[in-house]
Amino acid sequence: MRIVLFGPPGVGKGSQARFLSEREHVKHISTGELLRGAIRSKSELGRKARSYVEEGELVPGVLVRALAEDAIKDSGYKSFVLDGYPRTIEQAEWLDTYLKDAGHQLDSVLSLIVPSEVIIDRLSKRRVDRTTGENFHLDFKPPPPDIPASRIIQRKDDMPESILHRLQIYHEETHPVQAWYRERGMLQEVAGAGSFEEVYGRILSAIQDSMSRR
Ligand code: AMP
Repeated sequence: MRIVLFGPPGVGKGSQARFLSEREHVKHISTGELLRGAIRSKSELGRKARSYVEEGELVPGVLVRALAEDAIKDSGYKSFVLDGYPRTIEQAEWLDTYLKDAGHQLDSVLSLIVPSEVIIDRLSKRRVDRTTGENFHLDFKPPPPDIPASRIIQRKDDMPESILHRLQIYHEETHPVQAWYRERGMLQEVAGAGSFEEVYGRILSAIQDSMSRR
């Protein structure tokens, strides 16, 4: 399956994509995680991307494009869930061309829909295990006590001023990508409110639905 999981920051797409990849054995491709890894390793890409990521700005597309395309190639083009890419119409066009040139296309673009108040709550209470990248929520999924507290961090771009900025960028740059996919008959909307398991169940049935129509 070739899936894009789409939605505003904090909608839960990272946790859902990670779970889906473990359960269904598909490669989870998170451009945000790849960028944070590059920043941690202080690679050239990481140095170029760092200030954008920390301030909640979009990293220049050309830098992210190579990351996403290499990861798709690594998956054999067959089995992946993209999380955080594409984020602009330009990136959606690149992805489309990249897959077409390899003789493939996306099976589905799932858009998770959640009210803004829920998003702000999820982002401000999100904590991350900096070793594994796993996300937690202070109320609903607190970090387990066996993980040392020093490993649990709050992302700089989850600080209140960055959250609002990221949501604004989402509405200006990324939200229009939904319409681009809708016009091509590829968008499936999935309600993102409710428990993790409920949302996962909806994602799975949307995927099954799109695969059965192919
Ligand atoms: P995420 O973990 O998906 O919330 O991404 C964290 C940050 O990485 C974003 O706020 C951007 O700075 C950067 N980023 C991730 N994916 C992209 C992308 N497709 N295009 C541009 N910047 C990106």
